[in-house]
Amino acid sequence: MSDNDVRAMIIIGGGPAGYTAALYAARANLQPLVIEGFQWGGQLMITSDVENYPGYPDGILGPQMMQEFRRQAERFGAEFVTDDVTRVDLSEQPFHVYVGDEDYLAASVIVATGASARQLGLESEVSFQGRGVTYCAVCDAAFYGDKQVIVVGGGDSAMEEAIFLTKFASKVTIVHRRDEFRASQIMLDRAKAHEKIEFVTNAVVDEVLGDGVMKAVRLRGVDDDSTWELPADGLFVAIGHDPNTSLFVDQLDHDDAGYLVTTPGSTATNVEGVFAVGDVVDHTYRQAVTAAGSGCMGALDAERYLAAREGHAGTALTAPRPEAAEV
Ligand code: NAP
Repeated sequence: MSDNDVRAMIIIGGGPAGYTAALYAARANLQPLVIEGFQWGGQLMITSDVENYPGYPDGILGPQMMQEFRRQAERFGAEFVTDDVTRVDLSEQPFHVYVGDEDYLAASVIVATGASARQLGLESEVSFQGRGVTYCAVCDAAFYGDKQVIVVGGGDSAMEEAIFLTKFASKVTIVHRRDEFRASQIMLDRAKAHEKIEFVTNAVVDEVLGDGVMKAVRLRGVDDDSTWELPADGLFVAIGHDPNTSLFVDQLDHDDAGYLVTTPGSTATNVEGVFAVGDVVDHTYRQAVTAAGSGCMGALDAERYLAAREGHAGTALTAPRPEAAEV
């Protein structure tokens, strides 16, 4: 297919939602193009063992799971561009999806761009990125064997990262700006019970300190503005996520936080033929399994839209091709 041809479907984003949409669309003979991002795989690439995805009773590493999702979609004919979309024009049919100068055309678009880790917003945080400051325990924990590290945040992510880090670090201090936690009780209890984990509450990270590499952070008490230094070799920021919607906010309806808004009970956005799935829509459940389910819904919705609009066969989604019997 030449890049000037109008494809039935382009899926933007390569996480559980995008790959599941690709799998369903590919099995419906729609030959979807997945523009999966330069760093494909989404947030599961920075997750440890996934123990809550049905079908993996012994757990599976996030990156491995994403490779398998991708391979399954590829098996049925999904194509991939491993690059970032730089611009979209959803104002008229066919839709334009640009990767630099490359202009891909499609009759339907599924947005599955997910969400990204939040940053603290400190200059020193940026200057020490890769030299102590990180957003991904699974990626970087192994560099902190027998070292002291800090995790910022009070949600499940912070607890999960802290517990994971205890496999490597000698001591993990969780710094949280309040003394109440968003984390689920079970995760909080696990972190509190761990002998390597300490808590500093009612404090924020004011500055990352060091000389070339990070040596400490300066903490500030939120009650009295007092400051003190806490020595540490690593700072793991785990303070939540923001939806990756900068490409779409002037073209698709979104909420105040930037999450795309879809018609209740559907993945349809305000632009007919454009669908949104996964964490780019969902700030409530945010699980791989819900993202995958949402990706499936997006493919079904888009396929029905295409069938109604262009007369594509509308039965393939539920009528497996012969090779699908092997799955
Ligand atoms: P979250 O629940 O939104 O928690 C973010 C935490 O970071 C909050 O404690 C927040 O403090 C703090 N925070 C935010 N901005 C901050 C800043 N600028 N400086 C200091 N602290 C800041 O995010 P999350 O932990 O990433 O979890 C997101 C969702 O994923 C949740 O629904 C969670 O249950 C789920 N999740 C589940 C698992 C699991 O089940 N294994 C693992 C990870 C995540 P405040 O509380 O004061 O606002």
